[in-house]
Amino acid sequence: MHKDISSTLALSRQALELIGKTQLNAEETRWLNEQTISGFREHINPGFLEYRKSVTAGGQFAAIEWRASGPNTLIDTNGKEYLDCLGGFGIFNVGHRNPTVVQAVEQQLAKQPLHSQELLDPLRALLAKMLASLAPGDLKYCFFGNSGTESVEAAIKLAKAYQTPHGKTAFVATNGGFHGKSLGALSATSKAVFRKPFAPLVPGFRHVPFGDLEAMRDTLYASLNTGDGVAAVILEPIQGEGGVILPPADYLPGVRKLCDEVGALLIIDEVQTGMGRTGKMFACEHSGVEPDILCLAKALGGGVMPISATLASEKVFSVLFDNPFLHTTTFGGNPLACAAGIATVNVLLEQQLPEQAARVGQYLLSGLQDLAEDYPDLIQAVRGQGLLQAIEFQHNQLGYSFAKGMFEAGILVAGTLINAKTVRIEPPLTFTEPLIDRLLTTASSVLKGIQEKQRSGTSQTVAA
Ligand SMILES: *Cc1c(COP(=O)(O)O)cnc(C)c1O
Repeated sequence: MHKDISSTLALSRQALELIGKTQLNAEETRWLNEQTISGFREHINPGFLEYRKSVTAGGQFAAIEWRASGPNTLIDTNGKEYLDCLGGFGIFNVGHRNPTVVQAVEQQLAKQPLHSQELLDPLRALLAKMLASLAPGDLKYCFFGNSGTESVEAAIKLAKAYQTPHGKTAFVATNGGFHGKSLGALSATSKAVFRKPFAPLVPGFRHVPFGDLEAMRDTLYASLNTGDGVAAVILEPIQGEGGVILPPADYLPGVRKLCDEVGALLIIDEVQTGMGRTGKMFACEHSGVEPDILCLAKALGGGVMPISATLASEKVFSVLFDNPFLHTTTFGGNPLACAAGIATVNVLLEQQLPEQAARVGQYLLSGLQDLAEDYPDLIQAVRGQGLLQAIEFQHNQLGYSFAKGMFEAGILVAGTLINAKTVRIEPPLTFTEPLIDRLLTTASSVLKGIQEKQRSGTSQTVAA
């Protein structure tokens, strides 16, 4: 494309005008819808439009979001409201536009949005102290970044810096695990589609079946024998993108013990399970396991700002004391993000949202279990903890049909990045029982529709 200053300037003016509006008239709606679709097709990635077509029916692939309309709902440019049962895959734990978070960010915005990068910034210190006092065990120091991927990247680098002098450079991750897509984080992520185009990745990573303590033991002890010392084991306490996979109850404690035996660090990635999602502030608290390094992101910014944190014990983190510039990022821990993080911690504690997630999650799970009993031909299993739940369908196509039907009915649910048979239900922790009832009633009628279609399809096939 050639450079066109006057039309770019005009477009920026028009866009700024729209940003300033809360309501669009019919012409503005048409313009914005058209611009969004052509912008995605021509300048973002046309693949997103194709993906949207595969998960929606009719013209609904072109739904364009406009604003949050309540803690648990959002509306598109055409005014259709959606009940958010995927919570931005774990971003919106405290709901959309939580007033405490919005206020903190607005107040900080009016004072100083970003930091000088030279003086000490107070909010970073305050949030780090709060996270250290909430986190399990002796996690004490905190590195802030901007994404889950960055929190994992920092964890891997920290483990390397700590363990390389001890001759340990290998990493053990798990099949089905998801840790992000930068080259380092991707090395821990398991899915071949995401990894293969970028090989070779960081050397020294291997993957073992998740939830299988014997496999972990064999791998860790084999590495002792070969001398390929394991710097760290990295895993999620519940695999999110892997399809909401819960390990056996003795798994995390067992892995902790094995790590201690062979001198490997344990990195727990709670980017998705953290901040109350599973019914405790951190999912590892369910089993009382204390990691050496803990990764947080997604919900930490209260659904308002991106922020991540990598917490570590003093023993491990002290490798960065001599040179705090060994691992840095410009925007990590900026004042706006930390204001959001502080407000998020406040809301989670003040409103006891982890406890609410435990209660409402139990209610959701028993409702899903009823659905599984009603539709055994469609549903293979349901599972989850707190408000991280999933329906596993008999095959991928059923998962897509279900997500489509729910979308049509104005309820957002979604597949996972690693496992397409599984549809995830991950609403804001501000969800209450009546909203779960609405979700379940709609799910039941969508499932009924799929079953009827399938049966009439089958009888036609038989007749033919
Ligand atoms: C989403 C996710 C990540 C990556 O976070 P981004 O913010 O997308 O970079 C890492 N680990 C887990 C467990 C996640 O769910």
